[in-house]
Amino acid sequence: MSIKLDGLSKAYHAEDWVLRDVQAEIESGEFFAIVGPSGCGKSTLLRMIAGLIPISAGELTIDGQVATNLPPKDRKLTMVFQSYALFPFLSVTDNVGFGLKARKFPAAEVADRVNRALELVNLTEFKDRKPRDLSGGQRQRFALARAVASDAKICLMDEPLSNLDAQLRVKMRTELRNLQQKLGLTVIYVTHDQVEAMTMADHIMVLHDRHVQQIGTPLEIYSQPVNTFVASFFGAPRMNLLPARVSGDEELTLAQTLKLPLPRPLAVADYTVGIRPNALTILPRDTATPNVQVQTVEYLGANMLLETQLADGTALELVGDPAMAYRPGEQLAVKITGTVYVFDAQGQAQFILKEGMTNGSRTQRSQVAANR
Ligand code: ADP
Ligand code: MG
Repeated sequence: MSIKLDGLSKAYHAEDWVLRDVQAEIESGEFFAIVGPSGCGKSTLLRMIAGLIPISAGELTIDGQVATNLPPKDRKLTMVFQSYALFPFLSVTDNVGFGLKARKFPAAEVADRVNRALELVNLTEFKDRKPRDLSGGQRQRFALARAVASDAKICLMDEPLSNLDAQLRVKMRTELRNLQQKLGLTVIYVTHDQVEAMTMADHIMVLHDRHVQQIGTPLEIYSQPVNTFVASFFGAPRMNLLPARVSGDEELTLAQTLKLPLPRPLAVADYTVGIRPNALTILPRDTATPNVQVQTVEYLGANMLLETQLADGTALELVGDPAMAYRPGEQLAVKITGTVYVFDAQGQAQFILKEGMTNGSRTQRSQVAANR
């Protein structure tokens, strides 16, 4: 049950594009996450795939069949929403079997499918309860049971965990992922939460500014971001983005102070350099000339987050050892010890300088959008 999105576009009002030219192939049995900030069009894309709203332009193929204009019921998919539409007056069993009964399945088959679905999500003992007598996590599993019972091989989910408390959300991530693999479901999962996407998905599509920014595995998205948007959207604490300039020689100057050797000449121009906080190391006090001043400190438990400033006022976030008791106002010496990303003035990735920065590699542009 593969799905192909070929140039999908959406305008709710004439020419006012919410999505432009979305290109992707979703393989059978994979967990595919659509991620992006609020309002970027994630729900819109999912509703077009489900057939709940018309596709303005482009072609949708489901399982080799053009589905662009198929009615929702003929698309072989189910949908789990953020607010699960349950019938409050029906029991769990009747809710799960509702769709099947409506489609005139024989009673024995409905009962069998419902029982198996409830067993899978560990809700058998709650089958006679009403939805209101279930906890948040149980309701979520219940919504999944409905998807499972329907026998559709493709399941679309729109932020299904966002109503749960933090602890349950983490637990449900694993449960959902396990269930998806056990059933061999193809899941298209919408979320604004980069951690959710990173931990659950086989592939991630990053949406922003009406366009697909990048599609890749979680590792590719994290380690080879194609632009500054993707680079700063994934990873916590966020990647530092610093103004940089190449001027004549083969040297890159960051924030007018730090110098980096370049593996090969780069055009004289302005650039943006990205460095994740964990790619920066704070040197022991009094072992090197300080180059940053601490502004604020924040304890994160195992780590300490330090907001610092370079000489020209550019902000630089670091992580440090809480045992070192860094204080606001103090001067520290910081060294780049990890990966450095070089983006051009438009924010497009140019170079990735690996540890030590002696050899650079050109980023793979093939990761962009269509070419997966
Ligand atoms: P997301 O799910 O990523 O938060 P949406 O797909 O809900 O984003 O919305 C994307 C954009 O489309 C937003 O600017 C939103 O205001 C607009 N939009 C969503 N639904 C409608 C609609 N029914 N009519 C007009 N505009 C809409
Ligand atoms: Mg949405």
